[in-house]
Amino acid sequence: MTQDWGKRTKLVHHGARRSQYGEVAEAIYLTQGFVYPSAEAAEARFVESGADEFIYARYGNPTVAVFEERIAALEGTEDAFATASGMAAVSGALTSMLRAGDHVVSARALFGSCLYILEEILTRYGVEVSFVDGTDLDQWRAAVRPGTKAVFLESISNPTLEVIDLKAVSEIAHAAGAHVVVDNVFATPVFSRAVELGVDVIIYSATKHIDGQGRALGGVICGTREFIRKTVEPYMKHTGGALSPFNAWVMLNGLTTIDLRVRAQAASAQALAEALSGDPRLARVIYPGLSDHPQHDIAKVQMGGFGTVMAIDVAGGKEAAFKLLNALQVAVISNNLGDARTIATHPATTTHQRLPEDQKVALGITPGLIRLSVGLEDVADLIADIRGGLDMI
Ligand SMILES: *Cc1c(COP(=O)(O)O)cnc(C)c1O
Repeated sequence: MTQDWGKRTKLVHHGARRSQYGEVAEAIYLTQGFVYPSAEAAEARFVESGADEFIYARYGNPTVAVFEERIAALEGTEDAFATASGMAAVSGALTSMLRAGDHVVSARALFGSCLYILEEILTRYGVEVSFVDGTDLDQWRAAVRPGTKAVFLESISNPTLEVIDLKAVSEIAHAAGAHVVVDNVFATPVFSRAVELGVDVIIYSATKHIDGQGRALGGVICGTREFIRKTVEPYMKHTGGALSPFNAWVMLNGLTTIDLRVRAQAASAQALAEALSGDPRLARVIYPGLSDHPQHDIAKVQMGGFGTVMAIDVAGGKEAAFKLLNALQVAVISNNLGDARTIATHPATTTHQRLPEDQKVALGITPGLIRLSVGLEDVADLIADIRGGLDMI
């Protein structure tokens, strides 16, 4: 019956279980383990545990299971596995699927820790990784080959918001027999159409929009039941990247409002980007919802909205960018995203500080670039805040 529900109904109710007390809010099962009614029952559960039969919180937990079912219902995948953080999800999905001798093709514009996993960790265990410009389909075509086991990419890159054509890359990858693994944080599960575009494995840092209020770390891997239960689960349950029941409960409450929050934040991001476009003090305003964004047409087709993150490139470089940041009254200087608070980040000196200068240039991370994760404040206050910052330059 719940399959017929709309997304918002599922986000409020899907997967809910109630104990004998009939609690309204989901219970937090803050327990490491479970008591068996008999020795025979314990034996049977270790042979095969049925639905809602748990053994140990590293393997699974009732609160975590509700979160997994609800996010899978939102994303449209058969199943999901919750992890301790977004990075536990990225490393778990890739490491559980790959073995020595496999080849991976990855987009080059990646979150720093994702890049570390692909460049430093996987290669240490005999996986070969080729990097491509994710927006150039010819580079994907040239890089995949019969031994390519997976392609990896962020559907919208951080911090310059390039949008990769998921349908085209999936077709190229599948023709070579490779799985498509996408870090979909910037697209958000609200706007994602990844499943219908052919993506096999979809990963979120739940720390971002799923919590949405900057409180807890979490992550999730979404995919087929076969992949999640036969490949991911055995790896995760023995390596220990489980999501805590308390954080699962935080994320579950985040899902209840995610559709409302992300749509409101994206509408504000669009309004802020439009208000700042053409300001002579800005060299660039980057937002996939602007018609001058290089992949605006792709974003329109592959997402239900353009996301909550935008970027501005202050013409006066680092000094001017810092003046703007230090003048902000509403937005805070930090490095999370997807939060209810608007967050301003200077990637060149913080999140992407360690990148060599030539790579910063190649990725468009200029000294004046400021990433803005647009929150839930009144958009008029946000526009006034950024303009006030620009006036201080
Ligand atoms: C934040 C982020 C991650 C890592 O998530 P954590 O929850 O911090 O581990 C991975 N990918 C992208 C695109 C992110 O923004």
